[in-house]
Amino acid sequence: MAALTEFELIARFFRRPGRSAVLGVGDDAALLQPAPGCELAVSVDMLVAGRHFFADVDPESLGHKTLAVNLSDMAAMGATPRWALLAGALPQARPEWLAAFAHGFFALADAHGVELVGGDTTCGPLTLCITIIGEVPQGRALKRSGAKPGDAVWVSGALGDAALALAHYSRDIELSSAELATCERALQRPNARIALGERLRGVASAAIDLSDGLTGDLAHVMEESRVGARVRLGAIPRSAAMEARLRGSYREVALRCLLAGGDDYELCFTAPPERTAEVEALGRELGLEMACIGTVTEGSTLTIDDETGHRLERVPRAFDHFAE
Ligand SMILES: [Mg+2]
Repeated sequence: MAALTEFELIARFFRRPGRSAVLGVGDDAALLQPAPGCELAVSVDMLVAGRHFFADVDPESLGHKTLAVNLSDMAAMGATPRWALLAGALPQARPEWLAAFAHGFFALADAHGVELVGGDTTCGPLTLCITIIGEVPQGRALKRSGAKPGDAVWVSGALGDAALALAHYSRDIELSSAELATCERALQRPNARIALGERLRGVASAAIDLSDGLTGDLAHVMEESRVGARVRLGAIPRSAAMEARLRGSYREVALRCLLAGGDDYELCFTAPPERTAEVEALGRELGLEMACIGTVTEGSTLTIDDETGHRLERVPRAFDHFAE
């Protein structure tokens, strides 16, 4: 098949009938109208081949994940995602790759009622960048800055499995094929906790999504809220694969994956202790494992108690793109 031009590529794979946008793909700019009484929540995230994903990754999963990591930022804000803009550099325009990517992208977009309203494409090393735009009722967005000493620290699901898959690839750990399949799913097909974020408006005092790892992301909440936190290692939700490694000779690697692996896309949030029953009921309603993993404290330090109640000496740090 002849190579596609930039305009053919957009028309063939990314232009669809408009829905909620006043004007979507195809003009010089999109026209968007937020619902009355809502503020816009806007965020951008970039994924680079070789850094955030393997260049030969299944394109359908990549389409899913590229959007999912952006949706996760909306969830963290308690926002409802509405529109997305997609910019990508592609080494070449391969129709079957693009069709699979678009399929993964739009399946997730449709599941959340998100409309693609614009973008750009160019030839270059594979890089994908999404700007996501959501709505949140005025003044009700979840922020990182509202945690108070005495609040409980919550996490919405098992952590560290995506990092376990990567640790397996780099031969730092060995997973069975069944464990690897579960961990690869966590790595490639994360689910943004949109419904949870929406329902936490007015319940959570602060929230963040776990993209870089629990210790680093929780530290952002601590910084913005000017508080410390004390976390119980044993209370952090984990898979059976993770639990087995934490008890075995790969404990150090497993700890790093659990606490600082990143790519979890669960929500970490704080809530006053009197909201505990409400948070637990929400977890049951949404089918999510809600774990209270610790408490917000005065001060500025993050303390992690191990399974025996002793303070963890070395707390693994979250992923930093500029720390080599
Ligand atoms: Mg985030």
